[in-house]
Amino acid sequence: NKRIAVLTSGGDAPGMNACIRAIVVASEGKGHSVIGFEHGYNGLLSADWRKLDSKKVHNIIQRGGTILRSARCKEFKEEASARLAAKHLDELAIDALLVIGGDGSFHGARHLANYWNGDVIGLPGTIDNDIYGTDATIGYYTAIETAMDSIDKVRDTADAFERIFLVEVMGRHAGFLGACAAIAGAANYVILPELFKDTQTTLDNIHQQLAIHRQRYGHESFIIVLTENLWPAGISDLATQLETLTGGEVRPVTLGHIQRGGSPVSQDRMLATLLGVHAVKCVEEDKSGIMVGVHNNEPVEIPLEQTWENKKALSSPLTHTMLTMLNERHHWGLG
Ligand code: ADP
Repeated sequence: NKRIAVLTSGGDAPGMNACIRAIVVASEGKGHSVIGFEHGYNGLLSADWRKLDSKKVHNIIQRGGTILRSARCKEFKEEASARLAAKHLDELAIDALLVIGGDGSFHGARHLANYWNGDVIGLPGTIDNDIYGTDATIGYYTAIETAMDSIDKVRDTADAFERIFLVEVMGRHAGFLGACAAIAGAANYVILPELFKDTQTTLDNIHQQLAIHRQRYGHESFIIVLTENLWPAGISDLATQLETLTGGEVRPVTLGHIQRGGSPVSQDRMLATLLGVHAVKCVEEDKSGIMVGVHNNEPVEIPLEQTWENKKALSSPLTHTMLTMLNERHHWGLG
């Protein structure tokens, strides 16, 4: 029987609890024991942990956030930290550490593996879906739902006032969340890192698109989705520039952290459960240095390094087609 430890690290995401639950329930069924470290890698350094069993994870599948708390831990990058973490894990006779988090957290897991003999396995948990080697990440579907919902609400006002609204969504440096929210929310324009050329081209395109929209619908209720960290001088600058350009009012809305919270939608719960159960299977097979992900609804395993050495592509032909429905064709160079 194995002794398994789990922690959640980096940005929290809805479904992390569902994943912890899956790990605990699957482990218990096989006679393994599980402990949870608190506050990400900080808990590994301070030996702050608690036993987890099915009673402790009862009634958490629907809760956002993470019962183990999450945190950043700058000093974990140091060798001394990894050695200290290894010492604590050995003292507790842990066989495997499961890390639920984003690519930063996977770097941490890989770093630890250099100084610890136990098995380390990553599970992708981030609303950004910016991790190579998995079709989706825990929390991504819920964040799309939240962003889409917000666009629906913004549109009510945009329609009532015939105004231009600019909605900024998260995504760190990837456009997955922005693209899906824009497609599902039927936004009129979307600005994504993967397809961004420069500010002038974007402004010109929006201007042109808005003219077409005005002619077709006779009003200016127009919704633009913008991915965070993309517009050089920020969303307010873009709003001001658009006001100058169009002569109308442009309202910027930043969705912010509401996208990270809330009860996970069923897809995130299913994904969290699939990954959690598969990770326990990997522990039984003594696998290490891997991330468990999903591809075509089946679990997959890929070396941790590959998750950050490769960049996940946004554009499938289908995504392109759907995005073309929003933005002007030539903007994507599609002819
Ligand atoms: P995410 O996992 O969501 O990408 P971060 O990038 O903030 O979040 O990373 C989470 C934590 O992972 C960091 O606070 C740090 O403890 C650890 N970490 C990140 N990069 C490294 C690294 N190169 N070496 C060791 N630990 C790292």
